Amino acid sequence: MASGTLHIDRAALAANYMTLAARSTGATAAVVKADGYGLGVELAAQTLAKAGAQQFFVATAEEGVTLRAALGPSPEINIFSGHMDGDTAHLKDAALTPMLNSPEQIVHHQAALPGHAYGLQLDTGMSRLGLQPADWPEARAHAAAATLLMSHLACADDPSHPQNASQLAAFRDMTDGLATPKSLAATGGTLLGRDYHFDLTRPGIGLYGGSPFTQARPVIRLSLPVIQIREIAPGSTVGYSATYIAKTPRKIATLSAGYADGLIRALSGKATLWHGDTPCPLAGRVSMDLLTVDVTDCTEPPEALDIIGPHQSIDQLAEAAGTIGYEILTSLGARYRREVQ
Ligand SMILES: *Cc1c(COP(=O)(O)O)cnc(C)c1O
Repeated sequence: MASGTLHIDRAALAANYMTLAARSTGATAAVVKADGYGLGVELAAQTLAKAGAQQFFVATAEEGVTLRAALGPSPEINIFSGHMDGDTAHLKDAALTPMLNSPEQIVHHQAALPGHAYGLQLDTGMSRLGLQPADWPEARAHAAAATLLMSHLACADDPSHPQNASQLAAFRDMTDGLATPKSLAATGGTLLGRDYHFDLTRPGIGLYGGSPFTQARPVIRLSLPVIQIREIAPGSTVGYSATYIAKTPRKIATLSAGYADGLIRALSGKATLWHGDTPCPLAGRVSMDLLTVDVTDCTEPPEALDIIGPHQSIDQLAEAAGTIGYEILTSLGARYRREVQ
């Protein structure tokens, strides 16, 4: 038996794309890096292409090769990491467009693949990827032939953060007067409003139902099967290091999934699972392949419990673990059976 069942709602994924696309003033790409945020890149990309996405982004050229096989020849596939050593054959064979990040990448790309499409990524204040303002007077000569001028916001999940406006101003400073298509906004930037949209928005997390797109339709439900249930007496301990000690008689269910499936150990003692409407708290530490859960309040012995579902979103689960929905999604393990609706 699989460690759990990951239910994926394709209609919800498509609906989230269409809602974000309807809000964008220009075109809307889909970001499907990290195996489609853990859902499976082929499924995610094909669903999003059917919903209307014609441009896609992934992090690496290898991801681009996989994506090209899933999508066929027509969609545009862009690579955030640009053109790195060893990428040339992938970029050429799979017709991928690197977002070049440095003067060195520009030189390398033009020497290795003259005439091959490229975009330019600009650093407007995140200090992570992209050409810096000091590189720009010289690199700007390559802007007219680029397919896209893009940058990324560091604080777009917080609309009140002053860095949003300062990065917008920096992006405008660097790109005003250039006719090349422009892109600044991921999910958060799309929600900041039209000033941030330019020609292309690039949402990722919002498509998959995550914050800050609070109106998103949930896309996944994660249900974990019960292997066995035991009754334990007061004073009994549960799990590694005996961190949970029963104060009263308890029913403890052992579930087939653990930190090797992306249910990170930081959830220990913090997460709640659900049997229908009944909350069932995690008891003790998360093991590699197992969870121990207090099911005393269930009216019947449960066969499975939900850890992500109607009562607990990916963001609520992330909060219990002290992390973000992105990390929960992209950690979803390979052992789950994926059931696609
Ligand atoms: C991951 C990523 C995105 C998508 O971001 P979300 O917050 O998931 O919408 C867009 N642009 C860049 C450069 C990224 O790295």
